[in-house]
Amino acid sequence: MPPKPEHDAPPGASAPVIVWFRDDLRVSDNPALSAAAERGAPILCIYVLDEESPDIRPLGGASRWWLHHSLAALGHSLAALGARLDILRGPGAETIESLALAAKAPGAFWTRRYGRAEIEIDRRAKAALSDQGIDVRSHKGQLLHEPWEVKTKTGDFFKVYSPFWRAARALPEPAAPLPAPKKLTAAPWPAGGPERVPLEALALLPTRPDWAGGLRETWTPGEAGAHEKLEGFLDDGLPRYASGRDRPDVVATSGLSPHLRFGEVSPRQVFYAARHAEQARGAPGRDVEKFIAELGWREFAYHLLYNAPDLTRKNFQPKFDAFPWLEPEPAMLAAWKKGRTGYPIVDAGMRELWTTGVMHNRVRMIAASFLVKDLLVDWRVGEDWFWDTLCDADPANNPASWQWVAGSGADAAPYFRVFNPTLQGRKFDPAGSYVRKHVVELAELPDTWIHEPWLAPEPVLRKAGVVLDQTYPRPIIDHARARDRALAALSSIRTDTA
Ligand SMILES: Cc1cc2nc3c(=O)[nH]c(=O)nc-3n(C[C@H](O)[C@H](O)[C@H](O)COP(=O)(O)OP(=O)(O)OC[C@H]3O[C@@H](n4cnc5c(N)ncnc54)[C@H](O)[C@@H]3O)c2cc1C
Repeated sequence: MPPKPEHDAPPGASAPVIVWFRDDLRVSDNPALSAAAERGAPILCIYVLDEESPDIRPLGGASRWWLHHSLAALGHSLAALGARLDILRGPGAETIESLALAAKAPGAFWTRRYGRAEIEIDRRAKAALSDQGIDVRSHKGQLLHEPWEVKTKTGDFFKVYSPFWRAARALPEPAAPLPAPKKLTAAPWPAGGPERVPLEALALLPTRPDWAGGLRETWTPGEAGAHEKLEGFLDDGLPRYASGRDRPDVVATSGLSPHLRFGEVSPRQVFYAARHAEQARGAPGRDVEKFIAELGWREFAYHLLYNAPDLTRKNFQPKFDAFPWLEPEPAMLAAWKKGRTGYPIVDAGMRELWTTGVMHNRVRMIAASFLVKDLLVDWRVGEDWFWDTLCDADPANNPASWQWVAGSGADAAPYFRVFNPTLQGRKFDPAGSYVRKHVVELAELPDTWIHEPWLAPEPVLRKAGVVLDQTYPRPIIDHARARDRALAALSSIRTDTA
């Protein structure tokens, strides 16, 4: 039972309630906002840029770019409903507490988060506000099912995806999404409240240099952009999702990941939209189920993060603590980051990432495998680079996926399965159109050589305008030898832990 509010607002009183937005930057299907609106009191809608609470992981560059535009979009949506988005900066718990006290707020609402540092901030905020008699309500909004709602028969958490997802699907389905509140009333800023800052003062956008041109061309951050993306996907991608989702040369996936990351669309809006598309637009059931199962991987990553909060920095399987990673050689690491490894599919992916802030899932697996297995670089180095460059850099999906590729994670790909970048390229980008799009200096190579230009006969290279090691590098490492080295490294930890 929540403690009794000391200053319950009588009907018609003007004490405002607070909605603290974090990873839920939307007005529709936002249970925290809807619950606050139901109180009928004026409302303070707040975002706090928190880069100083203990153990908080500051956002990477691409996410900061996204956040700027997403906050601007949220500000417009709230203004259209009669409210106002106020931006603050500082440690989350203390900032919200000082606002709540200045405003004499009877209630505060937010959507739950699942990382250890965030849970701790929210716990402290809740304790401090409850001590003051403020009614604090936290809501589910970021996941279909809370991590603690999905349990094994013995009450433990799941370490394997398939039984996790079966158990999750056996739970009652999520409630239908909520509409946006019809009308909100902005509360005046309270005297003595913390200082508000204009969005620009957060300096989230890159300036010197402004590297965000490709992001601007690719994305429309914000709730409207998220729903536009979803609508387009339901018609075009969903009907071929199961067969096309592994093909980077085909547009068959939703492109929703950054929108989900920042909560511009809720997972249950996506879930119900896909289900509805099966009935209303004739999307094949198998495609719909496959798509929903991918939302399930996102749920699983959060399940892991909640239950194993060190996921971001520590091997989920401790035996990997003894793995003999190599100190990354600066030139090799730079070649990987810049997309100049000499393996076209890896390079296309790394350049797609740099330009657009995302990378196709299949190519993420190939590029990540190349770093951890061919170059023997610790997965945390790659996870950090993705964290900085992905618009969808996600506190659960990113480490869980890197650990999956590295073999150190829960339900991970076995370490001995080493992706061959040439074969992967041939299989998933057979005509090389994905490579040609991102590695333009190879665009004129015929299909036969597009995934292994170093083997192309000299006249073919000349005709395509490719000069090896000048216009495009030879492979920085021989894959067959790198594979043997990776397997030897693996057997060393197997022996060590035997
Ligand atoms: C090394 C590596 C790092 C990754 N880092 C991230 C990350 O930081 N943020 C992120 O959202 N995803 C990450 N992924 C997972 C996946 O690549 C992306 O979610 C996907 O490419 C997003 O494209 P989409 O929205 O078109 O996906 P769709 O295929 O349309 O899937 C719909 C949604 O389901 C979820 N989803 C799909 N595949 C996965 C998956 N394998 N694991 C978890 N969730 C999934 C995403 O939220 C996605 O938006 C990573 C994968 C790898 C291999």
